[in-house]
Amino acid sequence: MSDSLMATYNRLPISLQKGEGVWVWDTTGKKYLDALSGIAVCGLGHAHPAVKEAICKQAGELIHTSNLYQIELQQQLGDGLTRIAEMDRVFFCNSGAEANEAAIKLARLFGHKKGIENPTIVVMEQSFHGRTLATLSATGNRKVQAGFEPLVSGFIRVPYGDLEAIRTVAKNSHSTVAVLVEPVQGEGGINIPQEDYLNEIRAICDEYDWLIMLDEIQTGMGRSGRMFAYQHTGIHPDVITLAKGLGNGVPIGACLAKGKAAETFGPGNHGSTFGGNPLACAAALTVIRTLEDQGLTQRAEQLGAKLLTDFADKLQDVTGIEEIRGLGLLIGIELDRPCQALVTQALEQGLLINVTAEKVIRLLPPLIMSDEEADHLVNALTTLIKSFLKEQ
Ligand SMILES: *Cc1c(COP(=O)(O)O)cnc(C)c1O
Repeated sequence: MSDSLMATYNRLPISLQKGEGVWVWDTTGKKYLDALSGIAVCGLGHAHPAVKEAICKQAGELIHTSNLYQIELQQQLGDGLTRIAEMDRVFFCNSGAEANEAAIKLARLFGHKKGIENPTIVVMEQSFHGRTLATLSATGNRKVQAGFEPLVSGFIRVPYGDLEAIRTVAKNSHSTVAVLVEPVQGEGGINIPQEDYLNEIRAICDEYDWLIMLDEIQTGMGRSGRMFAYQHTGIHPDVITLAKGLGNGVPIGACLAKGKAAETFGPGNHGSTFGGNPLACAAALTVIRTLEDQGLTQRAEQLGAKLLTDFADKLQDVTGIEEIRGLGLLIGIELDRPCQALVTQALEQGLLINVTAEKVIRLLPPLIMSDEEADHLVNALTTLIKSFLKEQ
């Protein structure tokens, strides 16, 4: 292997060459079922014909101009996204971390405009918001932060799911301007909060004039069984951040805002050279159209329910399984022990999965997966889990 790449990843020993739907092939011709979708990115699967056509066509016309000019496709995508997310305005960037950077800057500016000189944002334990300095400072995982101090200040951390802790911050801190929270924690281990969690945070934010900012980078674009996970609740957030599934692999991020939050940024407050360029917008417009036309959000809900039932069925008498949980196609199988080794064993069996938070097998399959492919996933993975637990 070449060592010209910085050693930021411990890479698995395969190189993928082509894909079709939920399947990918490596350079030796071996075939894998992709139950991870490039970490919740390729919701429409690989080599989706409509996405391919859209980006090929756009590449033949115009890939990039600049945000110094009007960009018609960006306007169209903005109209489409604000419609489906029920938000007012959007800023486009190129990744999840950048979308959260925009949200953090927006919250700080919102605070400054109210006369708060050192605004703070409430963030959660076990959260993940990205790898830039501000977003790693917001992230609730020491491994992501260690060695990169001094961290960006202005974050107050509370346990995920703990409403009382947020109320305590509200009573004691006059500098707080926002809460940044994932509707379901992805990297943290597919942690699903109690049902009224977001509603109660919304109520606190209303009472104290804070913004509720939802990191939907992993949960968004139909994956949770709603277009956005917050739509499982009755609330409207002030800010939503998106990336992963938005471009089906073409890099694009977005920070959406509603009401007073949507009026915070003015000219010169934020920007991006690449953000919202015609190529990325053509891809994202096709993703939205395909999700809607093919009812893939409903499909994610239905398929997610089937997978949860089938895993529960096949693993019911197996000791070593702590919990099987999920929302739509965000699925976690928590074991009673670290299980990173399962990733390599799955690879040998032709299955792409992920383990996060050490003990949680994380599945983020494409939304286009068929019932037969889902059955194959359940059979292959439950066999692997059983033998993994037995050999220990
Ligand atoms: C992946 C992810 C991010 C970071 O996105 P990048 O595109 O890697 O910068 C932020 N928040 C959540 C919830 C994520 O899952």
